[in-house]
Amino acid sequence: METKYIIVVGGVLSGIGKGIATASIAKIMKNYGYSVTAIKIDPYINYDAGTLRPTEHGEVWVTDDGGEIDQDLGSYERFLSCDIPKGNNITTGQVYKQVIDRERRGGYLGKTVQFIPHIPQEIIRRMEEASRGFEIAVVEIGGTIGDYENIPYLFAVKSLSRIKGKNSVAVVMLTYLPIPSHINEMKTKPAQQAIRQLSEHAIFPDIILCRAKAPLDRVRKSKIETYANIEADHVISAPDVDCVYEVPLNFECEALGEKLLKRLNLTPKKKPDWKRWEKLTRGITNPGKSIKVAMVCKYLDTGEFSLKDSYISVNQAIKHAGAGEQVGVDIEWIDAKMIEGEGSSCLREAEGIIVPGGFGTSGIAGKIEAIRYARENEIPFLGLCLGMQLALIEYARNVMGLKGADSTEFDPGTPYPVIDYLAEQKKLLKEEKYGATMRLGAYAAQLKKNSKVFYWYEKTHRLEKDRVSIKNVKEDFRLGILEQKEPVILERHRHRYEVNPDYIENFEREDIIFSGVYKPLKGEPLMEFMELENHPFFIATQAHPEFKSRLEDPAPLFVGFLSTILSK
Ligand code: GLN
Repeated sequence: METKYIIVVGGVLSGIGKGIATASIAKIMKNYGYSVTAIKIDPYINYDAGTLRPTEHGEVWVTDDGGEIDQDLGSYERFLSCDIPKGNNITTGQVYKQVIDRERRGGYLGKTVQFIPHIPQEIIRRMEEASRGFEIAVVEIGGTIGDYENIPYLFAVKSLSRIKGKNSVAVVMLTYLPIPSHINEMKTKPAQQAIRQLSEHAIFPDIILCRAKAPLDRVRKSKIETYANIEADHVISAPDVDCVYEVPLNFECEALGEKLLKRLNLTPKKKPDWKRWEKLTRGITNPGKSIKVAMVCKYLDTGEFSLKDSYISVNQAIKHAGAGEQVGVDIEWIDAKMIEGEGSSCLREAEGIIVPGGFGTSGIAGKIEAIRYARENEIPFLGLCLGMQLALIEYARNVMGLKGADSTEFDPGTPYPVIDYLAEQKKLLKEEKYGATMRLGAYAAQLKKNSKVFYWYEKTHRLEKDRVSIKNVKEDFRLGILEQKEPVILERHRHRYEVNPDYIENFEREDIIFSGVYKPLKGEPLMEFMELENHPFFIATQAHPEFKSRLEDPAPLFVGFLSTILSK
């Protein structure tokens, strides 16, 4: 079957949940039995999200194939339970670069290269490439239809509909209906204007999703119906929710899936079954009990909004693990610098402690103190990337007596560089090839069979023999040397520093077990997981397992962390 497209555009204002709406539509279509992928278009000129500051744009999402991508792709994976490659994020920077590079190679045979048609053509080419092999592709166009930078994409949507045929492209517009406090009435005017703006591009929405505090009443629906000239039942409420996973359920209350299928000339391949999804969502919105977890982090300086957005995947991974157990998790966001000033007393209430990833020196001492507190008081601890590096530094300093032990990222002159650049990386740095010094994307780790890490990966069916995703990682350098007898797992990475091979034996002589190792085809094995033998749960990883956590398939270490807290 040729791919059918569902295009999701935003009217009125951004930041009202277009990513979640897109992920929800994709999930609904998948539940009707179709193979579905989701694509994010970012109209900015950056080539990718790798260089964007987390406090400004939220977290950088990492794909299996090493892309540094907009965090909306994270929502798609969390809803669809599948790995989405970097090609599914299209930016204006990529589109123009490709067109200019092709022009330099003589690919346009001397023709004048122009905004129209060459830019929309390249956009369509990229959309087709990302959706190849899927029956339905849901494409989210970032920003709003009124943005100048959206023009080439709207043009591409119009062309796509002409090329593929009207029944192959449906357009969903997400709009916002404000309720100004002084009149306390829901206003449809901004939505009407957005509809008009879209029609100026000769695009008419098939479905209008109305974001608002509350569901729409009959009066507003019929106003929009008349204005947009679409049937009232294609105007769908998208009221505020406590938890994003409720969104597809709400859409289905208004039969959005069937309406979209009909519009695309398709019939359901199966009856959707939402029972498990509903139960998991209830586990988040209405849990039987709740626990307190402290997240000791750094990006707190620009307020509540950006704080949570900088750690969205970790936040979601904890929720997913809690949903499975029907347990709510209250996350206490703790600024590591506070611990530096006031000591660990702010951790007293915490039933578990997480130290997530990060770069740079700020807050490091506070995080190390939090780790010491967790280790000495037998509080479940989960370290992610930087969290693992700091756990080893803490152990070296406070247990092994290596005073001043550090990562060369924080103290280049440390007498005990337990975390360091590898020799090959140092060479690349000298040659100023900074980009190549970052370990990005999924790498295979071999696990020690009797370790706690192995226990949790096996229990959650995440050993790669149980999964298909290992076949998707094409570049063998990431898989390294795989002894088939050893259990293998895949997790994503985004970091520069590694455990210094010179100290591995020293650590292993103590209480530390390196429970997972990556064996590259060339060079030293790299330590991917560590755990403490005599502690209920003190586990850390050089990877970012939060990037592979989905509502219906939570990440093993988060499940283990939470289960241990619950069993205490
Ligand atoms: N700054 C550390 C490194 O580059 C950790 C990075 C991270 O936590 N993602 O190795």
